[in-house]
Amino acid sequence: MITNSPDETRELAKRLLSALPQNATIALRGELGAGKTCFVKGLASGLGVGQPVTSPTYTIINEYSGNARLYHIDFYRIGSPDEALALGLDDYLEADAICAVEWPERIADLLPGDAIHVQLRTGSNPDERKISVTVPEGLERVLDSLI
Ligand code: ADP
Ligand code: MG
Repeated sequence: MITNSPDETRELAKRLLSALPQNATIALRGELGAGKTCFVKGLASGLGVGQPVTSPTYTIINEYSGNARLYHIDFYRIGSPDEALALGLDDYLEADAICAVEWPERIADLLPGDAIHVQLRTGSNPDERKISVTVPEGLERVLDSLI
């Protein structure tokens, strides 16, 4: 999919939410400034989270609560997958909460097999983003929600 503004990216995230399992993990890939945090803002807004979403680059994990719980995790500054485990990654992933994970490539194979993968790429103008969503078998309805 293509979005042409931060608003459109937030809207796309909201649509994705509608078909998401309660404890879904969303792996967000893309360079700095690609729009990963913007996407999470859309998730939070869709969940009715009242407080503003800020990037957890330094805190690693931010927790929000709306109609469901949302963990926003950013592994940009994590040194190793072991460090993520020491922070309690497994507990967050297993919790009855939506986990949105930026820089999932930093934690290698610790992501659950049923994670939803979202890749954001910059486009041909400054506000364009090319966003691809990959779902595990059985969650094809998540893609239907995006159309
Ligand atoms: P990341 O978390 O991937 O580093 P951010 O979401 O923090 O990226 O920042 C994305 C930046 O790109 C924001 O400044 C946002 O306003 C801007 N932007 C411009 N167009 C878009 C778009 N279509 N979707 C998302 N962000 C966009
Ligand atoms: Mg970010």
